[in-house]
Amino acid sequence: NDRTVLVTGGAGYIGSHACKALRRAGYLPVSFDNLAYGHEWAVKWGPLERGDLLDKARLSEVIRAYRPLGVLHFAAFAYVGESVVEPAKYYRNNVVGSLNLLEAMREEGVGTLVFSSTCATYGIPAGLPITEDTPRHPINPYGATKLHVERMIADFGPAYGLASLSLRYFNAAGADPEGEIGEDHDPETHLIPLVLDAAAGRRPDVSVFGADYDTPDGTCVRDYIHVTDLADAHVRALDALRKGVPSGAYNLGNGLGFSVREVLSTVERVTGRPVPFRVSERRPGDPAALVSDASKARAELGWEPQMPALDDIVRTAWAWHQRGASAPSDAGRAPSVPHAPLL
Ligand code: UDP
Repeated sequence: NDRTVLVTGGAGYIGSHACKALRRAGYLPVSFDNLAYGHEWAVKWGPLERGDLLDKARLSEVIRAYRPLGVLHFAAFAYVGESVVEPAKYYRNNVVGSLNLLEAMREEGVGTLVFSSTCATYGIPAGLPITEDTPRHPINPYGATKLHVERMIADFGPAYGLASLSLRYFNAAGADPEGEIGEDHDPETHLIPLVLDAAAGRRPDVSVFGADYDTPDGTCVRDYIHVTDLADAHVRALDALRKGVPSGAYNLGNGLGFSVREVLSTVERVTGRPVPFRVSERRPGDPAALVSDASKARAELGWEPQMPALDDIVRTAWAWHQRGASAPSDAGRAPSVPHAPLL
C-alpha cells in the first residue's frame, strides 16, 4: 500500500504517539508489537499485528501482507538500569530483533527505515551541547545495543540499498495534548511520571539519584523533549527519506538542560502540590549531563519543537496522569476506533 507504514513498537509510549502523527499526515500505521510493554488501548490509528521481532517468520508474514512503504522501528527494551544487570536480554531483543527486522525488510524489498536511537549512545560526552559528531562511547548496555543497531543499519545502506535515518532522542516526556494517549510504563522508572506519582500522593516520595554530580545543583541534567515533537520528527524523517535525503542520524532535543531538582520544582509549581524527595545513591549508567544540539534536524528536516517549555511537558503529562488515575487498567482504556487485525 502506498500509504502504509509498519511501526514496530506501535503500542508503546513513543510509538503510539508516532502512529497518531502518521495518521494525521495521511499514512496508515500498522503496529507490530508483542505487547510485552505496549498497550492494546494505545493502538488507535491503524491495525495491531501481534508479533515479536525474534520471530522473523511472523515479521515477514506481516510485511508481505501489508507491503509497507517504510518502517518506523521503535520496538526495544529501554530500561537503562535493567540493561546493566541483564545485558543478554538487551542484546537479544534490541540487536538480534533489529537484525531480524533488517533481514525481513531486505527479503521483502522494503528499503526505508526510521530508527529510534538515543542520546545514551554518546555515553559521557566530551562536551556540551552534543552534536551528531560527538564521539560515542556508551556507558550502559542499553546505549551500546542502540549504537550497534545504528552501525548495522549504516552498513546495510550501501550494501543492500537501505535508506535510513537514526533519530537520537534525548529524554522523551509529556503526553498527547489531546489526552488520547500518554506514558504508562510498568514498572515505571522515568523521572517525570514518578514525580507526578509523588505529587498525586500515589507514592510517598521520589529518590533523587545522586546530588554530588558536577552540575550546578549536583543533580543530573537532562534535555526533556515532548513526545509529540518526537512523533512529528518521525513523520518528517519518513517524508525526507522518501524525497531522497541521504541516510544519517539526527539528535532530537530542545537544547535545554534541566536538573532533577528543577524537574521537582517545576512539577510542584505546575501541579500545585508538594513533592517529597530524598537523595539516594547514584544510579549506575547515568552521565552527569546530556544536552542536545539539534540544529541539524531543524535545518534538514524543518523540525521545530512546538512544546519546548518544561512547564508544557509537565502539564500534558500531568493531565494524562490525572485521567489515568481514574481508569488505570488496560480494559478502562478501550481504543476509540477499533481496528480488526487483518491477519
Ligand atoms: N532520576 C532520579 N530518580 C528517579 C528516576 C530518575 O533521580 O526515580 C534521574 C536519573 O538519574 C536521570 C534523570 O532523572 O538523571 C532522568 O532519568 P530517566 O530514567 O527519566 O531517563 P534517562 O535519562 O535514564 O533516559
